[in-house]
Amino acid sequence: MRKRALLLFSGGLDSILSAKVLEAQGIEVICLRFVTPFFGQDALFDPEGVKERIKRKYGLRVELHDITDEYIEMLKSPPHGYGKYLNPCLDCKIMMVRKAVELLPTYGATFVATGEVLGQRPMSQRRDAMRIVERDSGAEGILLRPLCAKRLRPTRVEEEGLVDREQLLSITGRGRKEQMELAKRFGIEDYPTPAGGCVLADPILSERFREILRRYPSPDANDFLLAQVGRHFFLLDGSWLVIGRNQAENERLKGLLRQGDIEITAPDVPSPTAIWRYAKHMELKGEVEARFRRYVKKGPREFKVEFKEIGPSSNRLCTT
Ligand code: SF4
Repeated sequence: MRKRALLLFSGGLDSILSAKVLEAQGIEVICLRFVTPFFGQDALFDPEGVKERIKRKYGLRVELHDITDEYIEMLKSPPHGYGKYLNPCLDCKIMMVRKAVELLPTYGATFVATGEVLGQRPMSQRRDAMRIVERDSGAEGILLRPLCAKRLRPTRVEEEGLVDREQLLSITGRGRKEQMELAKRFGIEDYPTPAGGCVLADPILSERFREILRRYPSPDANDFLLAQVGRHFFLLDGSWLVIGRNQAENERLKGLLRQGDIEITAPDVPSPTAIWRYAKHMELKGEVEARFRRYVKKGPREFKVEFKEIGPSSNRLCTT
């Protein structure tokens, strides 16, 4: 039987090591990276670049899958609730494992693996939570956690001899020592720092995302990407003003302008990029202009402010 696994791949050290542990026993690994505006966002802007970089650095094949729409729906009311902020870790894991199970025939693979370590995360990597993920994702018996497998009961793939349990590991807890030693053994030197990457667990951004979910019935990827750039003003009429804080943010905001947005500029003086979104009636134009003016470097003379509505041909949505 062909030995091929689909690995949930965050790009962090644990998922890289998990791939290497399986490869060391002759199993072909295809890394699935799920993409949303909340994690894996770099792949929304440069999917081929992301795949090429991981291949070059770690010799791993990555396949990207954008799950934004389904993810946002789940985020509105996750059945297992949120973690400390807006992170629905248990339902997030269940969704990803379920998707991986569905993709097994597409890639000719027989089981799903993750880089999880027992006891590393309070919400989703407890023993009981790991069981729930396995059960609710439909992955009973075919979900392997190579880094801590020896601390868990054997899966069907181990019992049937597809994977040699003896070569799997028994790492637990929040320490990184064993992973770092393992990385050295596999010759991996350059890897991301742990736990970066998911903005749902960011205290400030998660509040902003909550506000968006509360205000707008159908927010999309662009809304949640916009929420991560610039200064934000949620106005009384339901509209939303975003003003760039520096050149990089101004460029980012230009890429997020879409049909129906109002772009605000001060053409005669250096000014930030500003987007006024969901402004149906322009009632608060005066207030918005006053806010915008505060962030323009005036120079010696008065300046005018222009409001330009973005039409269909100017739509510059920058997601895939
Ligand atoms: S931290 Fe974010 S990406 Fe990770 S499991 Fe939780 S919600 Fe999902």
